[in-house]
Amino acid sequence: SKQQIGVVGMAVMGKNLALNIESRGYSVSIFNRTASRTEEVIAEHGDKKLVPTYTIEEFVTSLEKPRRIMLMVQAGDATDKTIQSLLPHLDKGDILIDGGNTFFQDTIRRNEELANSGINFIGTGVSGGEEGALKGPSIMPGGQKEAYDLVAPIFEKIAAVAEDGEPCVTYIGPNGAGHYVKMAHNGIEYGDMQLIAESYDILTKLLDLSVEECAEIFTEWNKGELDSYLIEITSDILTRKDDETGKPVVDVILDAAGNKGTGKWTSQSALDLGVPLPLITESVFARYISAMKDERVAASKIIPAPAVKAFEGDIKEFVEKVREALYFSKIMSYAQGFAQLRIASEEFGWDLEYGEIAKIFREGCIIRAKFLQKITDAYDRQADLKNLLLDDYFNDITQKYQQSVRDVVAVAIQAGVPVPTFSSAISYYDSYRSENLPANIIQAQRDYFGAHTYKRKDKEGTFHYDWYSEK
Ligand code: NDP
Repeated sequence: SKQQIGVVGMAVMGKNLALNIESRGYSVSIFNRTASRTEEVIAEHGDKKLVPTYTIEEFVTSLEKPRRIMLMVQAGDATDKTIQSLLPHLDKGDILIDGGNTFFQDTIRRNEELANSGINFIGTGVSGGEEGALKGPSIMPGGQKEAYDLVAPIFEKIAAVAEDGEPCVTYIGPNGAGHYVKMAHNGIEYGDMQLIAESYDILTKLLDLSVEECAEIFTEWNKGELDSYLIEITSDILTRKDDETGKPVVDVILDAAGNKGTGKWTSQSALDLGVPLPLITESVFARYISAMKDERVAASKIIPAPAVKAFEGDIKEFVEKVREALYFSKIMSYAQGFAQLRIASEEFGWDLEYGEIAKIFREGCIIRAKFLQKITDAYDRQADLKNLLLDDYFNDITQKYQQSVRDVVAVAIQAGVPVPTFSSAISYYDSYRSENLPANIIQAQRDYFGAHTYKRKDKEGTFHYDWYSEK
């Protein structure tokens, strides 16, 4: 008999996803370029309904039609090569699903190319790391809707389940929509992580709190509005000791952040679309400047820090301000990210449903958080909301918390503690709510040196001033 679905790529993600699918009662064919990996999976999980195959042909013919094939291979060239090797063996109507961290433009291209051969192509975001893949990820599929409907029953069973029982998967939109949303998710993840890191920096450097005290603070924060996976793991991280030295493990970890480029893609897309995405972009740059460790160490010997007096205020009160600043800034980040989704949706014709997207982030993925329900609620109130800050809930809460961000940022800047995302959050807020910005000066300059013309506040039309005339 034939298998119901096949998975290509038996590295950690593919293996765990195959095991997840199998555990929901499906028979699964597996294939990996290097045979030994497949053998290892079978040696480890021989009791499961996983059917190993060792040639592409054997793999494809083992599947029931229309075939459902999930690719979990390295993004980029490896994915193209894998598709090319499968293609001669596929029939019209078969469904290829790419679950890798693929750049959305690649997915748009592959969807179009494969459609010409009658093959359906779904590019799907899969978030939640290896644990999520095994137990229930958040899934963001994009591609032909009719094809998605044929895999939806499987995806709904393997996805994470939200508090209200709904699976964390929904059809996102045509071609690259799913991978775009996954990319935006990762960008938002960068922002959330940097905001937490800055909060920690303020607590330790400004308030002189110990790692243990910070762990308790994050545990407390996780009980309220900030309740989320990233706050939860941070509080756990802060309780862990290094085996060798007995020190808090965070104190021995080198402060140079890595990245795989998905945050950068989000910022690049924002620049291409002309959407302001300062917070996520600052968080990408914060990783880059952190990675310049040697240069920073050298600079620290040449450029002095400002003289700082010990913090004299009420510590408990200030910790609460940091919490409010964190929540406020998180809202700015999501407001920017979702505004980007709206513009991308218009640009690429995706018809994204923002409330549904926030919903599938509630469980399974790295940015999972109670807070996401607030976003879904906002789009339920108004589906075409231009910016989350215009929603009643977000407008009220940010008005309430704005003073805390101003206080925290001011104190941090006075003390020389870098707060790139906190300060960017309050600047975005102030820019967005400003009727007047100093762009009139920029327009005058552009007109002055390049005759780029300007518009007037008081009448329609395009104008040029004769800047080189006598005064
Ligand atoms: P890797 O990204 O490390 O990819 C390894 C897999 O790709 C192996 O099966 C490997 O086969 C295959 N592969 C590499 N090059 C080729 C090639 N030229 N032709 C055919 N196959 C090739 O594996 P992961 O499990 O970490 O990730 C799989 C996908 O899921 C990636 O796109 C990743 O970005 C994405 N992802 C990963 C997450 C994670 O937490 N790790 C989270 C969400 C998505 P072989 O054994 O023969 O080398």
